[in-house]
Amino acid sequence: MSDEKKVPYVDLPAHYAGMRQEILDILDRMHAQGRFILRGEVAEFETAMGGYLGVPHVVGVNSGTDALFLALHALGVGPGDEVITVAHTFVATVAAIVHHGATPVLIDIGADHNLDPARLEAAITPRTKAVIPVHMNGRMCDMAAILAIARRHGLKVVEDTAQGLGAKRDGRMAGTVGDIGCFSLHPMKNLSVGGDGGFITTRDPALDATLRCLRNHGQRSKDDLACFGFNSRLDNIHAAVALAKLPHLPRWLERRRALASRYSEALAGVGDLCLSARPRPETDGPYDVFSSYVITSGVRDALVAHLRASGIEIFIHWQVPLHRQPGLRLGGCSLPNTEALSRNVFSLPVQPELSDQDQSVVIDAVRAFFRK
Ligand SMILES: *Cc1c(COP(=O)(O)O)cnc(C)c1O
Repeated sequence: MSDEKKVPYVDLPAHYAGMRQEILDILDRMHAQGRFILRGEVAEFETAMGGYLGVPHVVGVNSGTDALFLALHALGVGPGDEVITVAHTFVATVAAIVHHGATPVLIDIGADHNLDPARLEAAITPRTKAVIPVHMNGRMCDMAAILAIARRHGLKVVEDTAQGLGAKRDGRMAGTVGDIGCFSLHPMKNLSVGGDGGFITTRDPALDATLRCLRNHGQRSKDDLACFGFNSRLDNIHAAVALAKLPHLPRWLERRRALASRYSEALAGVGDLCLSARPRPETDGPYDVFSSYVITSGVRDALVAHLRASGIEIFIHWQVPLHRQPGLRLGGCSLPNTEALSRNVFSLPVQPELSDQDQSVVIDAVRAFFRK
């Protein structure tokens, strides 16, 4: 086994190899010219990303986590407010709520592993201020249904699009339909920089102005302080790298979809596997971008152990849902779908650098497990 080739979940060295000279040139130019903090590259990236997403305002920040934090801050979320979201998400979604002194109200997911709009209305109280749908695994939530309910109740909508950059549904891009969209440029995401990074989108010029102040110590300009803010800026080097990578994003997403398509074909009917919905043509369904290729199986733990022993890196999000983490003290709610998923969910490598041969290794290993 040790002489077998490993199949990584995300192959960051291979990803770098494809961009190496361009990134080295950026690092050299930024250091040689001392261009580090809020120089032209940040604005250039914001304009280019706005063009890609079709949204007028993009604010570069230092992480998806701070994007969520600043979004709730700009919307005035505070003590006494309730914010509805899911437990099937990365902890940062809920942390942004808790760090404002507000109460997270966690509701269950639907068959798409995203916030179930059918459960949203029952969770709304007079204290509810906002809802945070999370576009998990590169699949956009049913935003039409969520927005209709939110508008009826006067709720703000913040889209956690950390995993959903490039996803579409009903002709709209994830992160551009609510009041604010929050994105991550973390190395594990579909568009990544050499460290932490993120950005925020909005169609509202007033929110844009507020977010720009908040990310930069509350400064409207050097001697004009609008409020107490934070140091949440997107570094210039990261902005330049994201700008260089952005033109490649559509091709990378198509590669993810092609890999996902092949998994769905090759693994259909194998064992008890329940596969991600196949990517469908944009015109007749959602455009999923497969930040993860998610499978569920009743024998998850044995199957994952077998795949890992075969040298295949597997990711599980997540084995303990947030409301079952004792340290977070979110207990009390019962979320049957979320809890069931945590027992049988796992993800296969689906990154754009995965070769056809390595994908065959993964497929063969899954099939071999169920032949035993
Ligand atoms: C990664 C992620 C975040 C946080 O993004 P960072 O850039 O790592 O801070 C938030 N929400 C979800 C759903 C994520 O997957």
